[in-house]
Formats: sequence, structure tokens, C-alpha cells
Amino acid sequence: MTDMKILVQKFGGTSVANLECMRRVQEKVLEGLAQGYKVITVLSARAGDTNKLLSLAEEWSPTPDRAACDVLVSTGEQVSISLFTMLLRDAGVRARSLLGWQIPITTDEDFGRARIRAIDSKALRAQLENYDVLVVAGFQGCTEDGRITTLGRGGSDTSAVALAAALGSVECHIFTDVDGVYTTDPNICSTARKMDRVAYEEMLEMSSMGAKVLHIRSVEFAKKYKVPVRVRSTFSDDPGTLVTQEDSSMEAVLVSGIAYDRDQARVTLRDLPDVPGMAAAVFGPLSEKGILVDMIVQNTSLDGHTDITFTISRKDLQQTLRIMDEVAKKTGASEVLHDVSVAKVSAIGVGMRNHSGVAARAFAALTQEGINILMISTSEIKITLLIQEKYLELAVRILHDTFGLDWDIG
Ligand code: ADP
Ligand code: ASP
Ligand code: MG
Repeated sequence: MTDMKILVQKFGGTSVANLECMRRVQEKVLEGLAQGYKVITVLSARAGDTNKLLSLAEEWSPTPDRAACDVLVSTGEQVSISLFTMLLRDAGVRARSLLGWQIPITTDEDFGRARIRAIDSKALRAQLENYDVLVVAGFQGCTEDGRITTLGRGGSDTSAVALAAALGSVECHIFTDVDGVYTTDPNICSTARKMDRVAYEEMLEMSSMGAKVLHIRSVEFAKKYKVPVRVRSTFSDDPGTLVTQEDSSMEAVLVSGIAYDRDQARVTLRDLPDVPGMAAAVFGPLSEKGILVDMIVQNTSLDGHTDITFTISRKDLQQTLRIMDEVAKKTGASEVLHDVSVAKVSAIGVGMRNHSGVAARAFAALTQEGINILMISTSEIKITLLIQEKYLELAVRILHDTFGLDWDIG
């Protein structure tokens, strides 16, 4: 069939949480079919299931083998696709379920946060000759030698966009529990405003700064393969937000969104000798263990000594502290400090490219409320501040207000 029209629809954990929710999902799939599409439905695990599976792994092992853990946590999606396929079959729809390895979606071997390398789109198209809906397990793939991998938390978005890119889907619809992408998380800021469109680049920064509405790699895929992604709600008919290429009207906006991330832990090495090779001595062993370092600050040298502070994901803290104890012994650092009650907040906007003073406004606004800024990092289109976690929601609202994001700029 050459004129096959394909639509990829992805439904997150809250959208498939129970039978009632899955009935709403079924309606969305039937709408797609009624519009003449063949539908690829990508599902997440039911809300809470992935967390339960991860806790189960930790009961068995303090540091679960990553490959074995993927075999376990990937089962959450298997439950969703089997249940949903039952519903569709009962409704008379020609549907079947597919796990990552059955397609296959091939990934690298970085268990727990694997990257998709290839998707057999020919095999999928062949399946679509016999079925109208393929119900695909999100978040999972397999290595070239057939081992199951997962794509990192929130990774079903990436499965969906990668499938859309591979199949040439007209749009990829990401259905979730909010109406679209907002200027900030609508669940913590009541004046957050839904955006009709957002540029790939801004969305990339928002996702990488913690806005979990879209998994960062899904936005990378969308940008690279120019897949228009529409974020919408399973529970309404709102057209949602289109994530697409930047255009001139978008450029006018100085700051378009505020993102936050609680998953931050801060580690400081005190009194390191300020000689060449110190940064490599600190960060080399972390990268060898696959620990991702986020923000880094090195203080100015005092008496030939300096402090290095950096942030990591909280789940990596214990391992990082063990490594830093070794590093301190080798380098002569006087102590290793840590703090898990920190979080980061970011202001993002392509308009920052052409304007200065955004950072100063952000600092002034937080200072006025007595919020101490612990670390700062900036890029061409974002400013990120590390603060005490207890001030996070307040900081989000203050920055949202400071940059006028609750105004309708139409
Ligand atoms: P799903 O399970 O459908 O994948 P997620 O929980 O991963 O859903 O993502 C949706 C959530 O993202 C929303 O409930 C909201 O709290 C959060 N979120 C954070 N930032 C934003 C934003 N800028 N716009 C919309 N939602 C956001
Ligand atoms: N179930 C996985 C998670 O909770 C993937 C996803 O929902 O996107 O992270
Ligand atoms: Mg998600």
C-alpha cells in the first residue's frame, strides 16, 4: 500500500492508569482511524507501575544490575499494551501489540538510558498491511544481540517520536494529563499559560532543564527529523501545543518558559590544590562510571587552593561520594561536602539571544524575596539557577511573573 497515512499517538501513564482512562484512549485511536489513518499507539506503563518495579529491584539489590533491571522495568509497558489491545480487539479493531524487540527498535547497550539506533520501519509497514492499529510498548528497545533495554525515565515520548520519524507520520501526538506545553508547570503555577506553538530549540532547553512534559530525546529526534509534535490531553479535545520550527513571531518573546528540576544533589570538594589536571582528576572517575555531572563551579584560587562544586542526579549521590572520597585522598582535598535539599530553576527563551539583562532581572527578583542563589549557569537561550529546594515553587512563580509570562501576548 503506497498511500498509507500513518499517525503516531502516544499515551502516558495517567492516560492508561485504569479501564476508564483506557476507554478515553480508545476513543482517540478510533478518531484517528475515522480520519483515515493507520495508527501506531505507543503506550507507557500504567501510572506508578515503573516506580513500583524500580523499588522492587532495589529491594533485591542496592545497586541492581542495569541489564537485569531493564528486563524488569520494561514489563510495565507490556502490561499496558496487552490490556489495551484486548479492548481494541473487543471493539472489532484489527489491532496487535508489539514489544520493542518484536519490531525491532534497536538501541545501544547503555542499559537504563539507551539511545535508539535504528527502527525497522519496513517490517512495521508490512504489519500495517494486516492491522489497522499497532499497539507498541514505549520506553523499550533491544541491543543488536537481542538484550532488552530501556530509554530512561519518560522515554516513551522518545519511542513515539522516533517511530513517527521512521515511518513518516504526519504528526506525532503526545497525549498526557495536561492540555499542552505551558509557560511553566501548570500544576505548581496557577497563572501558567498554554502555548499554541513552541520552537524545537526552546522545548529542548525546557526538557533538558526538567520540564518532564516531553522527554529530552524525543525533542532531539523531532528537531533532527522535523517531526511536528503535538502535545495534547487525553481528557479533552483541545488541539494542544505544536512543537515545531522556530519562526519570526516566536523570536519576539524574550523568555518563553520557566522549567525546574528537583533531581539535584550538590557536592563540593574543599581545598583542592589549584594545579593543572584537578578537574580531570575529579570528573574523569565520574564519567567512567557513567555519572552525569550537570552544573560545575570552580572558585577563585586562594593560597594556591580552590573549591570545586558540582551537581548530579540524587540517585547517583552515594556512588559519587564514594568516588569523591577516593579523589580527595589522591588529590589532598580537605573535605567532601554534600547537600540534597537543592533544586534548579531555569528561564528559557530564544529572544535572549538578542537581549542582555535577563540574568540581572532574574537575580534581582529572587533576591527581593530573600532567595539565595547557590550556583548559576547560562547558555545563549537560558539561565539556570540552583537554589534551596524549599524555595523552588516560589522561585518558579516569581520568575514567571517577572518575565510577564502570564500575560496573553497573543
Ligand atoms: P505522561 O505520564 O503523560 O508522560 P508526565 O508526567 O511525564 O506525563 O508529563 C506531564 C506533566 O509534566 C504534567 O502533569 C506537568 O506537571 C509537567 N510539566 C512540567 N512542566 C510543564 C510545562 N511547561 N507544561 C506542561 N506540563 C509540564
Ligand atoms: N514508564 C516509563 C517511566 O515512567 C516511561 C514513560 O512513562 O515514558 O519513566
Ligand atoms: Mg512522560
